[in-house]
Amino acid sequence: NEVPEIMEEFHNVPNTDWNLPQNIAWAHKIKTDWETPENIIGTTIPVVGELDNIERYTIKVNNWSGTPPWDYEMAVKEDYQKAVDSTTEWQNFDAEKRAHLLKRAAVEIEKSRANLIGVGVAELGKTVKEVDVEVSEAIDFANFYAESSLEIAKEFTSDDIGINLVLSPWNFPIAIPIGGVLASLAAGKKVILKPSTNASACAYLTCKCLWEAGIPKDALYFLPCEEAILDDFLSSGNVFDAVILTGGTETALFLLERNPQLNLYAETGGKNATIVTSLADKEQAALNIVQSSFGNAGQKCSATSLLILTEDVFNNNEFKALLKDATKSKVFGNPWDYATEIGPLAVQLSEKLKHVIQNTPDHQWLVKPKLNGNHMLTPGIIWDVTTADYPYQNELFGPILCVVKAKDLKDAVRIANNVDYGLTTGLESLDDNEIEYWNTHIEAGNKYVNRSTTGAIVQRQPFGGIKASCFGFGMKAGGINYVLQFTNIKSKTTDW
Ligand code: GLU
Repeated sequence: NEVPEIMEEFHNVPNTDWNLPQNIAWAHKIKTDWETPENIIGTTIPVVGELDNIERYTIKVNNWSGTPPWDYEMAVKEDYQKAVDSTTEWQNFDAEKRAHLLKRAAVEIEKSRANLIGVGVAELGKTVKEVDVEVSEAIDFANFYAESSLEIAKEFTSDDIGINLVLSPWNFPIAIPIGGVLASLAAGKKVILKPSTNASACAYLTCKCLWEAGIPKDALYFLPCEEAILDDFLSSGNVFDAVILTGGTETALFLLERNPQLNLYAETGGKNATIVTSLADKEQAALNIVQSSFGNAGQKCSATSLLILTEDVFNNNEFKALLKDATKSKVFGNPWDYATEIGPLAVQLSEKLKHVIQNTPDHQWLVKPKLNGNHMLTPGIIWDVTTADYPYQNELFGPILCVVKAKDLKDAVRIANNVDYGLTTGLESLDDNEIEYWNTHIEAGNKYVNRSTTGAIVQRQPFGGIKASCFGFGMKAGGINYVLQFTNIKSKTTDW
């Protein structure tokens, strides 16, 4: 049971220490600098790659703060064709050279921390602290996948020809797109990034760090576009060695129904439960749950959206009060203020959230959410939801937590498993027997005991689900086999 070297040597980069006054001053400066974003990011987020002078168009989007003062240039089909057909020296680089450039990319990302924080807040309304953590994760991905490619080269030879496509979401607009890009590059692939349009500025500034590090533009294409542009490339055959999607389960199913051959590697939705038993540290449990459910305004596949309480905890007014207090004491508001813990919704209130807010009777809210405009939604907790109810059945992707009653731990595990998804899950209990029972029977890719169910950490807690939360091999992002799954391993036998 030897621990691979890579596990022993890897160090995650630290997040900003917000106890230091100079860092608070730094956050203020970021805010001031982003009052004139054109000085930092320009007025158009461009399509980037080794591309001809192709005619394109630009669009504007609406976000939490109105309309950002920059346009988004949209790639067209010729851009994609060109990117697919091009050759690049990247594919001739050995693992050492690739790892070297990835590590340089990590340095560039660290150097751009302030601007990345700025763009994350400006574009998606994430809080300063939340973007800071994401930047650290992006740096960890770069360093870790660099190490992975060196480890792989020790054992295998590979045939590094091919191209990956990364389809990324808006909820983690820095770490998720760049994670897929870096893993593809580490595996020796050329890669196209198609970010979620409303998160393209974040993805662009992150890619810029990679180009600045020396990763060629014909190895990393940045091609935001409308979905229809991709139809010809995804609907039959396999243009791409891998399509790396982070998004809705429906999107993954749609892509595979249309083209069952597609090499799809997808991390999709979650309906994640945390169970609390009478043997939990209740105060700590309440804090962990509130963080899991309402951080990033609940817009996380990994969020705890079901809180399953064994009967004695459900009937315990003290725990109820703790949960309410922990929720109400979260600082809600302007994401530019470094002290804010819960910011606005990145995209306007969804029909699902609207449905739940309008149809939940007053007496069922333990904490009633308040909505101001289309984005400012304070956290809400619905008490005593049954498995037949709409909020139990649907991934809401917002700051709404549903509390469900269970008879005992066994019943709680049954309720938690009774969903299609299997992404993250939590247990709050200090009892070894309970932990063992839960660990044996709970169905999820990421299991957390006595801590929040979000905030996976590269190498230490790699991220990825099972059941309807995962398509493909299910190798975890930030884990030892993530790059390996994209590598074309060669096997050569000579018979004398
Ligand atoms: N990496 C994130 C986490 O561990 C999850 C990504 C997501 O929820 O979409 O919290």
